[in-house]
Amino acid sequence: MHLRFLRSTVLHSLRQPSNQLRTAILPSAHLNPFRPLPTFQRIASRAMSAEAGLSTAPHPTTSISEPAAPAQDLTSPSPAANGSKPPKEGKPKEGKVKEKKEKKSGESEPLELSPPPEFFSERIKIYDEYKAKYDKWVSEQPREPITITLPDGKEIEGTSWETTPLSIAKGIATSLAERIIIAKVNNQELWDLNRPLESSCRLALLDFDSPDNNYEARQVFWHSSAHVLGEACERRYDGCCLGYGPPLEEGGFFYDMSLAEGRTIGQDDYAGIEDVAKKAVKEKQPFERLELPKEVLLEMFKYNKYKQHYINDKVADGTSSTVYRCGPLIDLCLGPHVPHTGRIKSLAVTKNSSSYFLGDAKNDTFQRVYGMSFPDSKQMTEYKKYLEEAAKRDHRRIGKEQELFTFSELSPGSAFFLPMGMRIYNSLVAFIKSEYHARGFSEVGSPNIFNSKLWEASGHWQNYAEDMFKLKVDDEQYALKPMNCPGHCVIFDSRERSYRELPLRFAEFGVLHRNEASGALSGLSRVRRFIQDDAHIFCTADQVEAEMHSAFDFLKTVYEPFGFTFKVGLSTRNPKKWVGDLNVWNKAEATLRDVLEKQMPGKWHINEEDAAFYGPKLDFQLTDALKRHWQCGTIQLDFNLPERFDLKYRGPEQVAGSAVAGGAFQRPVMIHRAILGSIERFIAIVTESTAGKWPFWLSPRQVVVIPVAAPYKEYATQVAKKYWDAGLYAEADLSDNTLKKKIRNAQVAQWNFIMVVGQDELEGQAVNIRQRDDEVQGREETVKVDVALEKMLKLKEAKSPVSKLDQV
Ligand SMILES: [Zn+2]
Ligand SMILES: [Zn+2]
Repeated sequence: MHLRFLRSTVLHSLRQPSNQLRTAILPSAHLNPFRPLPTFQRIASRAMSAEAGLSTAPHPTTSISEPAAPAQDLTSPSPAANGSKPPKEGKPKEGKVKEKKEKKSGESEPLELSPPPEFFSERIKIYDEYKAKYDKWVSEQPREPITITLPDGKEIEGTSWETTPLSIAKGIATSLAERIIIAKVNNQELWDLNRPLESSCRLALLDFDSPDNNYEARQVFWHSSAHVLGEACERRYDGCCLGYGPPLEEGGFFYDMSLAEGRTIGQDDYAGIEDVAKKAVKEKQPFERLELPKEVLLEMFKYNKYKQHYINDKVADGTSSTVYRCGPLIDLCLGPHVPHTGRIKSLAVTKNSSSYFLGDAKNDTFQRVYGMSFPDSKQMTEYKKYLEEAAKRDHRRIGKEQELFTFSELSPGSAFFLPMGMRIYNSLVAFIKSEYHARGFSEVGSPNIFNSKLWEASGHWQNYAEDMFKLKVDDEQYALKPMNCPGHCVIFDSRERSYRELPLRFAEFGVLHRNEASGALSGLSRVRRFIQDDAHIFCTADQVEAEMHSAFDFLKTVYEPFGFTFKVGLSTRNPKKWVGDLNVWNKAEATLRDVLEKQMPGKWHINEEDAAFYGPKLDFQLTDALKRHWQCGTIQLDFNLPERFDLKYRGPEQVAGSAVAGGAFQRPVMIHRAILGSIERFIAIVTESTAGKWPFWLSPRQVVVIPVAAPYKEYATQVAKKYWDAGLYAEADLSDNTLKKKIRNAQVAQWNFIMVVGQDELEGQAVNIRQRDDEVQGREETVKVDVALEKMLKLKEAKSPVSKLDQV
């Protein structure tokens, strides 16, 4: 979605696009000297959720200019990107042998450099000098009474330049003070817990599980952990020169660094780095913030050409930026951080790769070390278990095992759905289509290829062209559609519309193409060709509320059969980037809040200033069986596209007390909405959430009939045909395998119901049913063929997430 043209503004932030390729070109929190404008962080997070959920977003038409995309993937792709296992799991034999060798040589290698590198003391000397000046300056600031307002409205009295968020938390409860990670001042600026408040403010205290702004507290936690990782590497490796170390949206963090001539980092280094990191954690080193003038920064980092580059590049002459210290490490950084390293109870190095300074292959090669950390070591154990489980459930693996889909070099990023995969695809689409029928949506069909004039009108040509596949036809420029919205505007505008027709709900399963970078493609999660359950509602401003309520109802209906729960985030107007009428915005946001409060009281959050420039939006995050969050559904108000396409409807005219069409033309509001997002990506999510054990209604393999011996093959075939004719995916296993083997095969293939038939069944026109996961060895009770069929049809109709016949 809005990814590429946001990239230019993602100069720095706590957050970091998950995509390696993009991380390579982005400067980081560790290098950016600008004040962390909240907007930047949010744009970054948007860019990332856009990446994660590429297909959910309506349409990108922002006016932010687009930076050049990198020509190639400059870093080794993450396991998620290329399907390879994380290094720790790869080639265990080789690793073990190496480990032994390394340990021998490692015995003589001390854990830390001794003496420590000279720049440690030089850096600290400058730091101490300026810190003393700063502390003196702080002590001279006026101590005045201030009022701190907590989210629940409670007011606490404090003193300016003395009271810190941490002291307030301690005043409430020690457990709270120990749990929180970061504070947020005036709903806008993240604030170190031990940084004194300067004036009266609103204050929120966030812990590791606070969902605000896509779990920004976690990003702070992982960002802080990157410092600890950097510190460990500086303490351990000769010539370690730190580059860039951001947190990752998908969790964890990395640090890029160069090491003394020729030294690289491998799996054998992980334990040593972790050990030094543990020391840093044990020392509970406070994170201290200090603002320094540019010339002092250059002096402080004179040993490090990368940090020098960032200072020269990002800090204007005559201005200053901040550094943070933890233990011996002083790093160029805007913060904020956890109060001290002791908060990072558990830290593990998870993988490594190489990269380039600034992501450019012409520059120095970096060693990139990835880590994961948690405030509680139990969470690390859970995380490691989760990684194992996630690997087992990888949709690319299951897709291959169950023959659902495949890919070819001949069309990268475009799935080939195999017969079994297409069954799932069709069932999903049929489900949504039946809901459309019931909910007043009309399906439309619009072209795949449009003249660039359409994209110029919609704004895509100016802002999104690089993500589109373009082609010349009869000397005119055309492009494949990356989204359906402009086509639906053309349909709306194909004749005069009356207020009586509104709301008009156009739905389309149109094939969309987006030119995702090849390095970013990953199974069904990141593709170039996909279909959304996309719809656009054209309505009056007064109809927005009702449409929102029905959209919620629709969402609940769709997510329920998968056992998904969801959370909603409301993205509000960014004061620096918006179009339209302020009153309309305010009214729309108030409506959305009201709808959220009615639909999911207390279970939604606000993503401040995160709206696209054309209207506020709701993002729906699913939680799957592994408790992972996926952004799938989106509902987005759009005040811009109707303007750009000059869409209008004839409003009512008051005639003799009643309203008739014939009044003045008015502008409709457009609502973009999708529930599954891209069908491809949704299938990936469901595959992983169910571990390939499809609920009956969605299963491509519903009933298999197994004859106990050759004489019953004919009966098995008859039964299977009866079920097939009734609309179920049924088959008879007529192979020559043993009965035991056939049952085993059926279980592995995840057939929901396995029916065994022999003499008794034939005589009684019955079947012996076992369910997919039944461990029963002997025979189960026989059921009449018709009775079983009736139950199965009911089970399918009910879309039950559980495939049990006795439940219907
Ligand atoms: Zn749209
Ligand atoms: Zn930092």
